[in-house]
Amino acid sequence: MKSQEKSPSITTREFTKAGATAIAATPLGVPSVQAATAKAAITLPSLPFAPDQLEPTISAKTISFHYGKHHQAYVGTLNKLIAGTDYAGMDIVCIIRKAAAGGENQHAIFNNAAQAWNHTFYWNSLSPKGKTLKPCKKLLAAIERSFGSMDACLAALSQAALTQFGSGWAWLVLKDGKIAVRKTSNADTPIAHPGVTPLLTIDVWEHAYYLDWQNKRADYVKAVLENLVNWDFAAANFAAAQE
Ligand code: MN
Repeated sequence: MKSQEKSPSITTREFTKAGATAIAATPLGVPSVQAATAKAAITLPSLPFAPDQLEPTISAKTISFHYGKHHQAYVGTLNKLIAGTDYAGMDIVCIIRKAAAGGENQHAIFNNAAQAWNHTFYWNSLSPKGKTLKPCKKLLAAIERSFGSMDACLAALSQAALTQFGSGWAWLVLKDGKIAVRKTSNADTPIAHPGVTPLLTIDVWEHAYYLDWQNKRADYVKAVLENLVNWDFAAANFAAAQE
């Protein structure tokens, strides 16, 4: 059963705290009014940095729109879409996987849930200390086994970010024991794909960079890779996947 699959990352566990306490079983599975109101809504997690700490790569103004408006809107829309449905009270990863398997009429739920999850994962993928952070020994060794070198890995991630046509995401992932690069379109997310564990992501929707870099996605991606990558987060996700 998909809801029992191992959480793919530490972030996932943070997301599921509310969901884990929200299950209110009732006889015959019929939700009572009390149970329905007890079901926790999906919440917008706090940012792991102050809004101006990613400057000059990502400005506080971008954060105010990207987190305060876009991310907030995905969370708010998701809660409206799932209210009173079988999805209410589920944790967000379960919502994403159920909606991904649910066909066309579940697309709105999938898109908003996946975007809510992807954005929290993105914020955690960024650190004001990124310039000095490095992959831990084990992750570096895995990167070198998979790509030949750290530089080749970064070049592949950059290439994915630049060649994603239109809106989407570039990811460093773990797949079949190897570190790999993926790109996904629009809201699509590795956690909807069995066997793929995300380690890091870069948002390449225009709303992620347009205020600061206008159309220059390549400059945004280069600056993120040089200054903001949270390798501690990637290492934690990598370690969690080995458990
Ligand atoms: Mn975004």
